[in-house]
Amino acid sequence: MALYHVEGIILRSRDLGEADRLLTVYSLEEGKLGAVARGARRPGSRLAASVQPFACARLLLWRGKHLDVVTQTQLRQSFPRLRSDLGGVAAASLLAELVDCFTQERDPAPSLFALLRGTLAALDESVGEPGRSLEGATYAFILGLLALAGFAPRLTRCVYCGEEPGPAGCYFDAPAGGVVCARCRADDRALRLSETSRRVLLHLAGSSPQAASRLALSPTTMHEVRAVMVSCLEARLEGRPRAWDFWYQQVGRR
Ligand SMILES: [Zn+2]
Repeated sequence: MALYHVEGIILRSRDLGEADRLLTVYSLEEGKLGAVARGARRPGSRLAASVQPFACARLLLWRGKHLDVVTQTQLRQSFPRLRSDLGGVAAASLLAELVDCFTQERDPAPSLFALLRGTLAALDESVGEPGRSLEGATYAFILGLLALAGFAPRLTRCVYCGEEPGPAGCYFDAPAGGVVCARCRADDRALRLSETSRRVLLHLAGSSPQAASRLALSPTTMHEVRAVMVSCLEARLEGRPRAWDFWYQQVGRR
């Protein structure tokens, strides 16, 4: 069949030619795919709303020789609150970049699709709401993504000796794969991790994005959790995600 439907989230949308958009979509049925939305930049285009970054839409695609073509769309969720807030845009940009980096084309993972969609929804609900945090939802997403990719950090026992860290203190060494006790810590690369932060990380690793967005943390704990998150990503990617600095600018001054 040359025509097929997917439920997809737009990870990236770049200008192509005079009026088209070149999309990177993460879909439930086919995983990541590239597609062209012809004429999507023309005023009044019926495709425009569904092919903007972070939108979730049902797409009817035509299988082309080189690139598939979006022929019809039905917008499911546009996440308007997230889109109107710099912190929300920064979080969604980070999520989109990470899904792009951690996935291969046409390799579907329904649980990752559900995690991405659920996190965008939790971020959208949290924007501007007292008692809700964009950071909690974002870090629960990162831990969920790492777990699905087979890179979940070990948080309960030392990666070297297998003992619980104990009262002597605890460190986090992302390249080694997780928590390191004071006895096994070999160099200065590992980050100091308070017991509170270790428990928060464990909690986030098992939380839904909605529950994680309700987590209230002190600035010190949040700072440690943030440092662990970026070190986990740096250990798995070729350096820091491009969207991290923009994200850090937004959350650093909240
Ligand atoms: Zn140890």
